[in-house]
Amino acid sequence: KLGGLFLCLVLLALFRHSASDGKVHNYLQDRQIGLWGKPRNVALSVDQVMNHLNFDVEYNGTSDELVSQNMGLYKEVYGKKIDEPKTAKLTYNQLHSVEYELANATLLTLVRNKELEDIVFTIRQIEETWNHQFHYPYTFMNDEEFTEEFKQTVKRHTSGECYFAVIPSAMWAKPAHIDATKQKQGVAKLQDNKVQYAGMESYHNMCRFNSGLFYHLEELKKFKWYWRFEPATNYFCHVDYDIFKFMEDNNKTYGFTISLYDDPLTVETLWPVTLDYIRANPHSVNPNGAFKWLTDVNQNPDITKQANGYSTCHFWSNFEVANMDFYRDEPYSKWFDALDKNGGFYYERWGDAPVHSIGVGLFEDKSKVHWFRDIGYHHSPYSNCPNSERCSRCKKGDFANSELDNQNCLSNWIKYEMTFKDLQQY
Ligand code: GDP
Ligand code: MN
Repeated sequence: KLGGLFLCLVLLALFRHSASDGKVHNYLQDRQIGLWGKPRNVALSVDQVMNHLNFDVEYNGTSDELVSQNMGLYKEVYGKKIDEPKTAKLTYNQLHSVEYELANATLLTLVRNKELEDIVFTIRQIEETWNHQFHYPYTFMNDEEFTEEFKQTVKRHTSGECYFAVIPSAMWAKPAHIDATKQKQGVAKLQDNKVQYAGMESYHNMCRFNSGLFYHLEELKKFKWYWRFEPATNYFCHVDYDIFKFMEDNNKTYGFTISLYDDPLTVETLWPVTLDYIRANPHSVNPNGAFKWLTDVNQNPDITKQANGYSTCHFWSNFEVANMDFYRDEPYSKWFDALDKNGGFYYERWGDAPVHSIGVGLFEDKSKVHWFRDIGYHHSPYSNCPNSERCSRCKKGDFANSELDNQNCLSNWIKYEMTFKDLQQY
């Protein structure tokens, strides 16, 4: 009996080894945790959390060399021909049955009346590549009333119900505790450094609202899932399965397509303020968080230093699919309250993308984060374009002009946070 068991183990080991993906496997093998090596979900102490976040792997090359190595890894992984996810349960409505039961979900966008043409441009692509099969509802949010023209026009292009939400000013406007002098100084510093939108208060409002408030809107309370989209973005690939049910059935919290660096000046103190918070609340940190992706210092050392230990790597939030209950629950919402109290949305220009990303990276198990390799997407100037028969109009494997290669940190996500199983999912 023991001999048989031994043989099984040897075969299993051989199988796992031979199923490797060349170079990718080398990066991952120390994390191809065996059947028993799954990290246990025990609350961490302050020291344990700080140890996780003190990630400083020795790297002996230049950061340029690393950029090209990392781009190579990205291309190796993303150059692979893909179709639908292989290892997951997928739900279809190919017969377009009216009986189809939708997930508790909405397509969601924050948009201005003047962006009508651009939002229709994007809706048409979402419908054509995906939603014509499901008719998921849309929720349009705005800090002002939508015009009749806006409402009637988007209704003509959407196959699902449309909801229009006017954001109450308590959720949108700058909160009373923001110190005007400090804000002016902060904005002036950003402007001196040519930071985009520094002096545009509505942009700061938007970032704060998208970071920690939208999911409390009356109109969104009934929903659990959202797919955020933005005017003038592209969706290139046909997807036939239900994206929201994919999230639900495969135990995912957050889905993304693009991961890149941020301007460190916009988030200079976001990381220190967060560290203060988790020193007081270490139990809120998930033991299987995406710590290395958040703190890598090798590919863009200057950025990580300027952002005081945060790599600035984030999921680009102009496309995201996520579970709002994650934001509504304590670890995220209490941390957001601390950020809001600090005022960095106005004294700096903290973006909703780094805030969502740090929140997900620290407070959620990284196995619940999904890279939608099959969703062909573009928001200027970056793309996610899979090598798939299902796509048209985008260049396969394309990220951006090669001078922007050093802005891509998806390779760090691949290297540090994805498991072998994740890599095999397409
Ligand atoms: P960028 O992608 O960071 O350059 O910023 P965008 O201009 O694309 O803004 C991000 C999203 O917020 C887009 O969907 C915009 O339509 C929306 N947005 C930005 N500012 C405002 C605003 O003042 N009011 C409304 N209603 N939407 C806004
Ligand atoms: Mn945009």
